[in-house]
Amino acid sequence: MGKFAPALLQQAANVIKLTGSFSNIIDGVITDPFIRNWLDLLCFLLSGLPADGTIAAEVAFMFADWYRPNVQLDYPLGGSGALVDALVRGLTKHGGKLVLNAHVEQVLVENNRAVGVRLRSGQEIRASKAVVSNASVWDTLKLIPEGALPKRYVEKQQAIPECDSFMHLHLGIDAAGLPENLGIHYIVVNDWDKGVTAPQNVVVVSIPSVLDSSLAPVGKHVIHVYTPGNEPYAIWQGQERNREEYALLKQERAEVMWQALERIIPDIRSRCEVSLVGTPLTHGRFLRRHHGSYGPAIAAGKGLFPGGNTPLSGLLCCGDSTFPGIGLPAVAASGMIVANAIAPVQKHLQYISETFG
Ligand SMILES: Cc1cc2nc3c(=O)[nH]c(=O)nc-3n(C[C@H](O)[C@H](O)[C@H](O)COP(=O)(O)OP(=O)(O)OC[C@H]3O[C@@H](n4cnc5c(N)ncnc54)[C@H](O)[C@@H]3O)c2cc1C
Repeated sequence: MGKFAPALLQQAANVIKLTGSFSNIIDGVITDPFIRNWLDLLCFLLSGLPADGTIAAEVAFMFADWYRPNVQLDYPLGGSGALVDALVRGLTKHGGKLVLNAHVEQVLVENNRAVGVRLRSGQEIRASKAVVSNASVWDTLKLIPEGALPKRYVEKQQAIPECDSFMHLHLGIDAAGLPENLGIHYIVVNDWDKGVTAPQNVVVVSIPSVLDSSLAPVGKHVIHVYTPGNEPYAIWQGQERNREEYALLKQERAEVMWQALERIIPDIRSRCEVSLVGTPLTHGRFLRRHHGSYGPAIAAGKGLFPGGNTPLSGLLCCGDSTFPGIGLPAVAASGMIVANAIAPVQKHLQYISETFG
């Protein structure tokens, strides 16, 4: 770091601004109500909290990218599956191995150190350097044997407030006669006065087959509509799948997504050939996340996301429950931080000289 100290020192005064909330930066500067709302919405979609709860560093990083001159929205050919394939290619290229369908039942602890994991199948995998969990904070705690972490730490982690969950509508539709200029993304805000975090107020629509025809059969589109991080889990808690009451609640809570989509494709209901509704229970089950939550609701300025270290030696955490927070760029950064913590200093120096010369 010494090499970069002079440049870093020049920015020292900005550190407080970067770790504070984004509203500290825009308060008094942005007065137009629509732009204020728009910035709130972008922050909410990034972090699960509006501008007053979103860390300025995350917004600075993202806005610098979004508003570069001549910037374009990139969408991966092959959809999100192509992103996963690229990550797996990177992993295997560097000697890593991906094991699927391998539920970690417990982190193995010996002599007060995490030394590996035991899978549901009973198989044990020993760690050569460390055990790293990117499961959410609440899900990671469930994997640690009782007594391996200090009680106060466990209570503090368990008490971290959670963002709400999602409703999803996955559709396969007949694309005949749809306008040529159909967009890939739309965001519908029903009422700006309610605030962007209000349940059922913000609906996001994604139609990726507009850009990548391989994602749907000829003449069809796939559509994903969702209410981002604004569906309270409490409404769904205790509901049982396969019960009529659950089916009715799904229908009722999905209506807002159909209505948002009707603003873009008015005859959407009659075009539909496949329709699947997902709830916070679906979200929790398939993404295997506590309460299907978007992640911790830690407001910038009031608290910082915890770092990757834990009081249990050999156990590190990354992902959206750790600094810098929720969202792909942030979780990628948290993974890099943990990788740096594990790698020897020699590797750091090599990386710095390769990257910055
Ligand atoms: C609908 C939606 C849209 C989003 N849009 C954006 C966006 O446009 N831009 C953006 O930046 N971010 C977006 N996000 C947020 C982003 O996807 C998340 O913040 C990010 O994926 C979190 O990554 P993670 O690695 O921390 O956690 P996860 O992706 O949840 O990974 C944790 C993994 O651990 C696994 N796991 C859990 N328990 C165990 C266990 N016991 N054993 C083995 N495996 C286990 C889970 O199956 C999961 O695969 C969106 C999220 C959603 C839900």
